[in-house]
Amino acid sequence: MMTQDVCNLLGCNLLGCISKPPWSKPLNWNLHVTRTGEGRIPFHLYVQCNNAEHPSSPSQCLLFPEFAQLPPELQLRILASCSSPTLWQAMRASSALRVEAAKLFWADEDTYYLVESQWLLGGGYPGDTWYDLSFARHAQNVQVEYDALAEEEQIGPMVDAVMEVQHDVVRDFWRTFTDWLPSARKVIINQSWASAPERLNGHGHPLPSCLDILIRSSPPTINVLGLILEKEDPDDAWIDRFSDRWRRALYQPAREGEWRKAEPSPVRTVVFMPVKEFNGPVGRFQRLKCFGTGIWQRQNALGPLIIEYVERHHFGGGRSEPLSCLCPGCDALFHKAGQWTLHVLRSHFWLIQDWMGGRGMNLLSEEARRDFSTHKRNLDADHSALREDWRSTLKEWCQDGGRRREIREGWIHQLENDAAWYTGQDALESDLWQLFTEEMGWV
Ligand SMILES: [Zn+2]
Repeated sequence: MMTQDVCNLLGCNLLGCISKPPWSKPLNWNLHVTRTGEGRIPFHLYVQCNNAEHPSSPSQCLLFPEFAQLPPELQLRILASCSSPTLWQAMRASSALRVEAAKLFWADEDTYYLVESQWLLGGGYPGDTWYDLSFARHAQNVQVEYDALAEEEQIGPMVDAVMEVQHDVVRDFWRTFTDWLPSARKVIINQSWASAPERLNGHGHPLPSCLDILIRSSPPTINVLGLILEKEDPDDAWIDRFSDRWRRALYQPAREGEWRKAEPSPVRTVVFMPVKEFNGPVGRFQRLKCFGTGIWQRQNALGPLIIEYVERHHFGGGRSEPLSCLCPGCDALFHKAGQWTLHVLRSHFWLIQDWMGGRGMNLLSEEARRDFSTHKRNLDADHSALREDWRSTLKEWCQDGGRRREIREGWIHQLENDAAWYTGQDALESDLWQLFTEEMGWV
């Protein structure tokens, strides 16, 4: 069993996106993995029926026609047993069911919708996010992605080695949060990277100082927890960020400044909210950025997917076939599910990075190579299509005949008039326009 979740920081996060045995669902080919090595699922895949992550049967997915004739109590009982994809369909298909289905859909306690702390700290402007903010208003469980390094500089900059807490920054963070996410009841702030030693809070206080302050300043109507990376032994100064003795841990605030360890749900899913419509010239460019990020996250997922695939091949479906390490020159042999995963994460991290970069496929069995090359071909096709869109945007920008001026005016008009892309900045000073012109100049 993989209960000793001990790896270096990225490996520790990657371990969380590798399903543990016994496997009751198929391999999730739709997995997306973030820069910090954490598994996520985009909303359109989360509510898609019959996919690998949510293998609902067709009958479960499509509510049968006689459903409306059933007594209301029976309808409610059936709805209560439906999966999230089915509830999402019911919310859109039938006005009679919409209210009850929506209540159940949003109340699902194992699904968390994701926002970035940098977006909240930046004032929460619609133009600075790809998410559809009308959706955000309904989210009851929210996960805030908090990397720590930039956030700590904003919340508690160090002045002459002393932290100066910016209470106005913390207050604005929560004000922005409640403005856009008024239905949130449970929030996990996910610090996905370790704080520097001077940012820690001393013995007996597991949360770094800035995260501690942020959570304790949250509105009383929201239950806020902190998900951190912590040392196995907090007092061991030899454990640095290259050590494999780290683990993820969830904490809830308790009385008198204390923290209580909480048990995360084993089936918790973190979902990217639906993206907004990418209209106009601003949307067209931001679509390229958003889709490009999605492809990169699918590419990142290759590492954990290969590990899980190999483990399943040897120990899934009632099999128990000894597994020889795939790393060239390593003769380690494993007899139990999960042992090789920990070994490869601890001892051959370069190999995982190779797989995440689409290399090292020759080490896989012929069957695995075939399955992964199909997956890789799909990724490459999406990448080519995106590159084509990119080229045509660039061509329009670079061509002679005044098209560049027209594009510029289109951008200014949209940034000044389209609420979905409002940034709080003058159009030509905005980060969106600056990024566009920089990237058009780079290529
Ligand atoms: Zn090995």
